[in-house]
Amino acid sequence: MPPLSPSVSEQLNKRLHEARADLLETVRSRTASDDDEAPAIGPLAHQGQSDDAPQSEMISHIEQHLAEHETALLREIEVAIGKLESGGAGICESCGCDIPEARLLATPTVRLCIACQEQLEKDQHTGRGPSM
Ligand SMILES: [Zn+2]
Repeated sequence: MPPLSPSVSEQLNKRLHEARADLLETVRSRTASDDDEAPAIGPLAHQGQSDDAPQSEMISHIEQHLAEHETALLREIEVAIGKLESGGAGICESCGCDIPEARLLATPTVRLCIACQEQLEKDQHTGRGPSM
């Protein structure tokens, strides 16, 4: 039995595809105005070789990080779309419980239920104190 109602599933599908199109457009427009050599997506190949970059390359270094972040986001979107298509959307990846539809609509790429997300954030903050 699919955990999501068809209308919610449809909304999520639409928003995820829009988010993906937006993201691709953002990356494309930035890399198009940048150097021709920069690939739109493919920052993984550049990892681990910028430690001794001169300062003039700091900007492109930052750009790489942006692209990495965006690539990660794109992957999240792809995963979410895949789960929608396979019927796995709306299920917490950690505990397997249903994720509330309101939460999914607020964050279509969400993969954890609220309890697991809070636990994850607690774990991430352990030993570092409150970050805000
Ligand atoms: Zn959970």
